[in-house]
Formats: sequence, C-alpha cells, structure tokens
Amino acid sequence: MQMRRGREWEGLVTCRRKSGDTLHLPSKVIPVAPYARKNEFYVYTSDTHALDRLDFPSSVDQFHPRGSIKSLRKGSYDIRSLNSDGTQNIIRRHSLVKLHSLTIEAPITRVFNIITAAQENSPAYVAQALEKVLEILRSTELYSPQLISAAPDNNKPVPADPVATDLLGGLLSQGPKPLLSGRRSSSDTATKYSQLPRPSLPLLQQQASAGIRELLAEDMSWNFDVIKLEKITDKRPLVWIGMSLMCRFDIPNTLGCDEQTLQNWLTLIEANYHPDNTYHNSTHAADVLQCTAYFLNQDRIKQLLDPLDVASCLIAAVVHDVDHPGKNSAFLCNTDNELAILYNDLSVLESHHAAVSFKHTHSDDRVNIFKALDRDTYKHIRKSIIDMVLATDMTKHLNVHVSQTKNHAALSFQGARDSPDLMSFGTPENLVIIKRMMIKCADVNNPVRPLHLAIDWAHRIANEYFSQTEEEKKRSLPIVMPQFDRTTCSIPKSQIGFIDFFITDMFDAWDALAEIPELMGHLRRNYQFWKEQEEASKNISSQTPPALTANEEESHEEETTKEMTEKSTGEDTSTQKETS
Ligand SMILES: [Zn+2]
Repeated sequence: MQMRRGREWEGLVTCRRKSGDTLHLPSKVIPVAPYARKNEFYVYTSDTHALDRLDFPSSVDQFHPRGSIKSLRKGSYDIRSLNSDGTQNIIRRHSLVKLHSLTIEAPITRVFNIITAAQENSPAYVAQALEKVLEILRSTELYSPQLISAAPDNNKPVPADPVATDLLGGLLSQGPKPLLSGRRSSSDTATKYSQLPRPSLPLLQQQASAGIRELLAEDMSWNFDVIKLEKITDKRPLVWIGMSLMCRFDIPNTLGCDEQTLQNWLTLIEANYHPDNTYHNSTHAADVLQCTAYFLNQDRIKQLLDPLDVASCLIAAVVHDVDHPGKNSAFLCNTDNELAILYNDLSVLESHHAAVSFKHTHSDDRVNIFKALDRDTYKHIRKSIIDMVLATDMTKHLNVHVSQTKNHAALSFQGARDSPDLMSFGTPENLVIIKRMMIKCADVNNPVRPLHLAIDWAHRIANEYFSQTEEEKKRSLPIVMPQFDRTTCSIPKSQIGFIDFFITDMFDAWDALAEIPELMGHLRRNYQFWKEQEEASKNISSQTPPALTANEEESHEEETTKEMTEKSTGEDTSTQKETS
C-alpha cells in the first residue's frame, strides 16, 4: 500500500531458514522516480547484520527487545538506528553506499553519490547544506509544493517544508524569465524574505524582448498566437499574458492587491502546470485566459458582469487545469490514484484544480491576491471561481449548461437582441450560467481559432491522449479512449466528431448571447478543412502519416465524440450519450 502511494516502506520481511527457523530481516523499500512524478523503480535494502548473528530471533520481541511493536516499526528497524557508528551524516552516507552497491542504478542514485562525495571534502557548513539537499531529494513529494504555514509559537512565517520554501523562494526571487532555473540554495529562506528583489510590472515589461512586447500588444485579438508566446517565453506564457491581460482589466485594483503580488501568484500557478504535458500545460491555461478576456471584452458581456465577476472569470481561467497530470479522470479512477480516492471518483481533476489553486494562493502573503478582500467579498469570489472550475467537467455539466443557455437564449437573448438593455437578463442565477458557459467555451475554443492554431491544438490534445492509451496498454488497464490510438487514429475525424456533437451547439448558444461572428466564421472554415482532410486521407492510403490516416473501420461518431470530451471520466455514459 505504501509503495503504491509512492512512499517509503520499512518493516520486517519474514524469511525462513533451511532449518525451518523464522528470520525477520529489517528491510526498507525506497521508491525512486528518475522521470519526474512517477515511481518507476523500487530499491529494496535489508539489514544483513541479522544474518551474522549467532542466534536468529524467532520473534520480533527477541530481536528487538526494546520498545513496543509500534515504536519498533517506526524506529528500531530503521537502517540508521541499526548502525552504531557516529553521527547521522555518516550513517546516511553508509546507507547511500549500500544504495550505490546495487546493480540497478537510477539517475537519482548518481545524484546522491555525487553529492555524498562532495560532502566528504567540504567544510561543515557546506556538508550540512548538502545534507539538506539530500533530504529534499529523498522526498517523494518533489513536485508537490507544500508552502509556508505560520508556526503557532511564532508570528513569522516559518517553512513548513524545506522543498516548498525553496521552491517559493526560488520562484519569487527570479522574476518571470529564469523561473525555476536558479532556486535559492539557502536553508534559511524564511529570514531573507525581506531581501528578495521585488521587480515591478514595469520591470517585467523591461525584461520583455521586443518580440514579447510586440506579441502582447495584440493580447485582445482573436488572432493572438499563444503558441508563439510559448516559444519566445521559454514555455512560460501564462505569467506574461496573465500580467498583460489582468492589468488591462484592472484586476489589481479590483482585488486591492499590488501588481507584484499578482505577478508572484501567476508565477506560482504557472509553475504548477506540467510543461511535459503536450496539451494540458500552461500554454493551454494562457489560451483559455486569452479567450476569456476576449469574451469579457464583448459589448453584451461587458454590460452584464461587474468587476468582481470579471476578476473571478480571469482567475478561474488561469487556474482551471493547474497540476493536471496529463491523464484524464477516468485514468486516475482506474489506477486508484490518490486524487480519485480523495474525491470519490467525482469530478476528480476539476476538484483538484480548484482545491490546489486556493491552497497555493493562501500559502504565502506574497502570492495571496485575495488578502485585501473582506470576508464576504472573498466568499463570493471564491464560490464563483470554484463553480467555474468545476463547470469545466464536460461529463457532468455540458448537457445541462447548453440546454439552459439555449433556453435562455431563446427566451431572453433573442428578445433582447433588439433592445439595448440587457440588465433584466442579469439575474444572479443567469450570471452563474453565463460565467459557466464562458469558461466552458473558452476551455474548448481550439476549433474556433484561426486554422493554424486549431491544427496545432488538435495535434497536441491527440498526442496527450495517445500517450494515455499507450500507458493503459502497457499497464493492462481499461482503454478509456480506444479511438485515440497513435497507430489508427484519424485526427480530422476526431475533430469533425468533436465539432458536430459539442462545439456547434455550445458556440451557437454562446453566440446568441455574446455575439461572436468572427469565431463562428473560423468554426465553419475549420470544419470544412477537417472534412477535406478526411476526404483526402481516404484517397491516399498507406503513405499518409499515421496521424492523418483515415480509420478504415466503421465510424463510431458517438464514441469519438465521447472521447474528445476533454474531461471525460467515462463513468457516466448515460449523460454522455444524452449529450451526444
Ligand atoms: Zn482546460
């Protein structure tokens, strides 16, 4: 169980000697994750001192007569405590030597060895710092920052966890460009908060290359090229466009926070998107944010939403996929992932995105964009953000939202089309639906973008799904999206299905309110493009690259559509079918 959770396990492994005697070997299993988050190897070590002893114990108590069973489990079998020599440092090195002697060597083991070797010839204070580094590297939570919490006996913020403190310190001291590349190495981050450089927004703009500045000047245009921004910002587009758009919408003023706090917050949120995901990375968040800003700028929407609504829409867009693992909720449920367990298989990812974003926001005053809000205002904006992030779960809400908005569109929007006064439509209930629709449309806006962007996104999401399917095959898990198989998938066909069954209805309804003719024009042209691609790929046969090869089998639009549902959890088939 511990290993499944990626944690260390320590305890007794029971062996039997030839003589029939039972032998309890104090053992330890350490998960090793050479490639980021997933534990790929387990290193098993056992204390063979037990074998050297003359009398093999036949029970736990004989072997370790001191302490209760509980304390034995916790402490006495620790490899460190079984060593008799000297300081903790030396004991640690000893266990690392053991690790080194194993024939399987993960890259992290080499890192351990290099650091341990460096410790040998270092002055005490350096050796101590390196020991801290080793401690951090041994943690299985390397990529899950847990930030600062106030110590009960002290008013100063105190690091709850050295990893988190260093991460935050590193993030905040670097400004947007170098980001994680230069983490602070000091173990004493808490005392140096006041010394952190505080680049202001003008400084951010100064750091911008001419290319970035030129691109950001177009940040409200529907033709905005977020893929280009991704390239020229070294895969950190969110903080750049986030600052640009949120200042344009006067968010610091609405929230009563300074621009530096906003920039820190954006930097921290962006750092919690996974750059290795081909789709669900911070570029997708930047794209959804840019689309949301575009919607908010439409005349009819402007009339309906107040500044706090605007802030909640932009914030929800920024955080809506934070810490996305690159696998969908169904995969997490099928693998008994701890998030699926935590959220009872219900809107697993969306719940996580919402929770994790608030956790990070409250982790430190320097990132807390809400700290100046009074309790009621904060409660209101929090509720609104959570509602919008949860609304991005396509399997749960799409049906309801589209039909609701359609009805409203039929009842109110059409009537109000000729009337300049939309305010009668802006009831609190309607505003909730409008905000949900806005973020849902923004989340799946790819097919209504200019063609070159639409194509890029279609390949990105397909590749992320392909990877999931490959892993499901490798691990003999249920295949959640069988259509997304790299060897057989037709991307044009998947796009056609997606547009037919989701996008057209959603954007028709949204267009009735927001009036977005430019987008609807792109949708028609892109749809036509995918149709032509599909036709063309039917004619060309085996020479076509796999990604564009038409699937020879009967078309299963319903399935394809279901699979294209970005957040499909696969556990609610009836809803999806109704939706289709
Ligand atoms: Zn998304």
